Amino acid sequence: MRKIQFFDTTLRDGEQTPGVNFNTKEKIQIAMQLEKWGIDVIEAGFPIASQGDFEAVKAIAESAKRMTVVGLARCQKKDIDRAYEALKNAVDPQIHTFLATSNVHMEYKLKMTKEEVIASIKEHVGYARTLFEKVQFSPEDASRTDRDFLLEAVQTAIDAGATIINVPDTVGYSNPTEYGGIFKYLIENIKSDQEITFSSHCHDDLGMATANALAAIENGANRVEGAVNGIGERAGNTALEEVALALHIRKDFYGCESNIVLNETKRTSDLVSRLSGIPVPRNKAIIGDNAYAHESGIHQDGVLKNPETYEIITPTLVGVSQNSLPLGKLSGRHAFVEKLKELGYQLSEEETKAAFIRFKDLADKKKQITDQDLIALLTDQSREESETCKLANVQVQYSSGGYQGAIVSIIDAEGTTKVASKIGSGSIQAIYNAIDELFQHDPQLAEYEIQAITGGEDAQAEVRVTLNDRETKQVFRGIGIDFDVLQASAKAYIQASNQMKEQE
Ligand SMILES: [Zn+2]
Repeated sequence: MRKIQFFDTTLRDGEQTPGVNFNTKEKIQIAMQLEKWGIDVIEAGFPIASQGDFEAVKAIAESAKRMTVVGLARCQKKDIDRAYEALKNAVDPQIHTFLATSNVHMEYKLKMTKEEVIASIKEHVGYARTLFEKVQFSPEDASRTDRDFLLEAVQTAIDAGATIINVPDTVGYSNPTEYGGIFKYLIENIKSDQEITFSSHCHDDLGMATANALAAIENGANRVEGAVNGIGERAGNTALEEVALALHIRKDFYGCESNIVLNETKRTSDLVSRLSGIPVPRNKAIIGDNAYAHESGIHQDGVLKNPETYEIITPTLVGVSQNSLPLGKLSGRHAFVEKLKELGYQLSEEETKAAFIRFKDLADKKKQITDQDLIALLTDQSREESETCKLANVQVQYSSGGYQGAIVSIIDAEGTTKVASKIGSGSIQAIYNAIDELFQHDPQLAEYEIQAITGGEDAQAEVRVTLNDRETKQVFRGIGIDFDVLQASAKAYIQASNQMKEQE
């Protein structure tokens, strides 16, 4: 059976989602979970983009045990050198160079002629090949490129030493018939003594990212690029979990397999959702909360008689119902540490100590601590550790009529406590006004969302906020988790405010 390689770009294209910023520690955590999930190739970042990106790619290159680690580079020598520096210690390094080939991109963005584009591909793929065994080339905006010129660009890259050709539908413009046709055309027409791997990269602007990726596979692509939960630029990338499940459930049709460990899917999705701050819609395929809920009576009756009547994917297959052993108030440190290991966390002695204190604190208020609670708690802890200003205290004065008052104190990077008090039409508004005063800024609160992490009346609250910088229009996200709604709201707002402050 044909094996499809899974290429994950959650940390590169996924991070290009407005407001998504993973720190290095979070990137490593995601990378390690991706390796556990069975990802073959990880695009860890764009090393030349910033010092932070460079460090993260380097750290992932040094921690990945099995995965190929990829760095993105434009067709420029300095990009390729920087990627080499970041990746040289990887077990299996790979470079991903790209250059746009569509008329609109060449004319308006690159301001290059076709001849110049071809010359640049030849020069830079050739140069990359002197440093890397594995060179991937992407003709950016391939789906809007003239077929003949696309073939010429791809053939040039192959002749210069690229063995992986990625065909991006950069703007999410293509459809399955057309996109599959591009692969068929290229595969039939290229000339090479070496085996060339073709790869798909799709965006979901027209809602066809997964369908397009599958069409590419049907037409000979052996690699699929995408991101967990389908996050990414604009409408996002191909959701890799969808492709993995489609190949598995419809093995009869596609005749392909992958290395994806399906029952790690939900856990991977949860982690990315939590760290990116982008919630998974309830009706999302494979991983949405409602994906396995049968509401209508006829369906329920059928599922009870035989699950196969309406259920093509079982929750266990993707790891949804793996809430094996919840912890509680009486769980000791040993059980706690074992649970962390089971969830794939590698914490230092100090971090474990801090996490255990938080856990005990939560267990005083909540009867059963589920896996979701624990993941939330640990994410919250690691986010807080990296914050410059931390929430110290919130005090609210509530009256059932008129204005509400809030006093908020934070501890800044120097360890100084700052206090502000403000009023607002509601308690949360009063808290946010006080935080704005402390940060000396006035962002626009674009989104405020509250959700319970688990069911039950003793559930923890998870608040997600999105702030817009009124001048730069940049977007910042924050998540706060707490037993108390107001405290969670304050934490989320401070997290987003910290990020906004760092950008100034
Ligand atoms: Zn993309």
